[in-house]
Amino acid sequence: MEKVHFRNHIPPWFQAGAKVMDIMTTERNWNAGLIWKSFTAVDARKILATHIPAADKEDEMIWAHTKTGKYTFKSGYWFLHRQQQPSIGTHSKFWKALWKSNLLPKWKHFIWRVIHRAIPTKENLRKRGMEGEETCSMCHAEVETQNHIFRLCPVSQMVWKSSWLGIISYTQMDIGVEDWIMNFLNLFFNQDGEEDSRLLQFISILWSIWLHRNEIIFRNVSVSPERILHLAQSHVHQWTQAQKLLAARQKDEREVSLPAITKGITIFKYGRCSTEGFICLVVDAAWKASSKGNCNQWQAAVGWEEDTDQEPRLSGATKIFALSPLQAECQAILWGTRLAASFASNVVVKSDCLEAVQAIKNPSKAVVNIVPIIEDIRLVAKNLDYFVCIKVSRTQVSKAHILAQRERKGK
Ligand SMILES: [Zn+2]
Repeated sequence: MEKVHFRNHIPPWFQAGAKVMDIMTTERNWNAGLIWKSFTAVDARKILATHIPAADKEDEMIWAHTKTGKYTFKSGYWFLHRQQQPSIGTHSKFWKALWKSNLLPKWKHFIWRVIHRAIPTKENLRKRGMEGEETCSMCHAEVETQNHIFRLCPVSQMVWKSSWLGIISYTQMDIGVEDWIMNFLNLFFNQDGEEDSRLLQFISILWSIWLHRNEIIFRNVSVSPERILHLAQSHVHQWTQAQKLLAARQKDEREVSLPAITKGITIFKYGRCSTEGFICLVVDAAWKASSKGNCNQWQAAVGWEEDTDQEPRLSGATKIFALSPLQAECQAILWGTRLAASFASNVVVKSDCLEAVQAIKNPSKAVVNIVPIIEDIRLVAKNLDYFVCIKVSRTQVSKAHILAQRERKGK
C-alpha cells in the first residue's frame, strides 16, 4: 500500500468508488496531465513509474480508504483492455517481414517507434507529462498527434497525393495511423515480393515528413511539401547506395556465435536455440534522483544496442518513468527484450544489473515495484524460441548507457 497525497484538495474526479482506471487514458497509458494536476509531485512520479503490465490480470490496483482517513494506492496488476496495444504476438508476421527487409536499420526502427507510439510528437510528450504547446508546426491548426502529422495535416496530405504513390491519406479514418501504416506495408510485403520500390517510397515519405517537421522546429526552416518530397527522393538514393555496400559486405558473411556462458555468471535462460534468427542486445538505464519539484525533468531513460562489431541492426533509447535505478534497469531489459523479440526468435539480452537478472530468474524474491515488469519480461521470453538474460560488467553495456544518458538529458 502506498499513501498518496492530493495537491490541494480532493479533485472532482475522485469520488466514492473512484478507480485507478480513472486516471488512465483509453490507450492504456497514465493520464499524465491529470496526475500531475491532482497529486503532489512525489506521488505523481510514483504513479507514473508504476508499470502497466501487458498481461490481462485481475484488477488489483485499487484506492483504499484507511483508518487514518488518508487515501492509499495499491499497486499490482489490474485488468485492462488490450485494445490499441500493438502486440508482438498478433503482428509477428509483419515484424518478421519488416526486419527481414532490406530497408535501412534506422527506418525499421523508426517504423517500430511509430507503431509503438514512441515518436516524440507534441501530443506524446504531453502524455508523458511534458508541458508545452501542442499545435502542429506545419499547419498550426491542429494538435500534433501521430495521426495528424503523418496523415491528416494538409501538408502531409499534399505530399502523399503528389508522391509517386498517389495516396489519399485522409480516407479510412476509422483506423489509427499505426494500423494505416501496417496495412500499407503488409500490402507491399504481400504483393511486391522482391520488388521493393513502393515500400521504399512509402517509408521514405513517412521518414521525411518527420525530418521536415524537426527541421521546422529546430532549424527554423519554412514549411514546404516540395522539401518533403525532395528529402524522400534523396533518401531513396541513399538507400540504393547502402544496398551496394551491403551486397559487398554480404560476401564475407559473419558467423553468428552464441556467447559462451560460463559458470558463475548470473543468467536467466529459457528454451532452446533455433534457426529463426538471432540477436544479442546490450541494455542499460540512466537514472537520476529527481531535483525538487521539477515535473518536467526526466529522471530516467533506457537504451539498447545490438552487441556487435558491425553496424548494429537495432539501436535506440526512450524516456521512461522510474522510481529507482532498479526499476529503470528492469525497464531497460523489458524494452530491449520486446524490441529484440520483434526482430528474432533467439534473443540474448545483457544487463549490468545483477538484481534485475536475479529477479527474472526468481521473481518470487523480487522487490514488489519491479514484479509487473519482470512478469512482462518473462512473458515475452516465453514466446521466443530461446532467451538468455546475462549479467555483464558495466563497461560491456557502455554503448547502451551512452544512448540512455543522452536520451535522458535531451529534450
Ligand atoms: Zn498540421
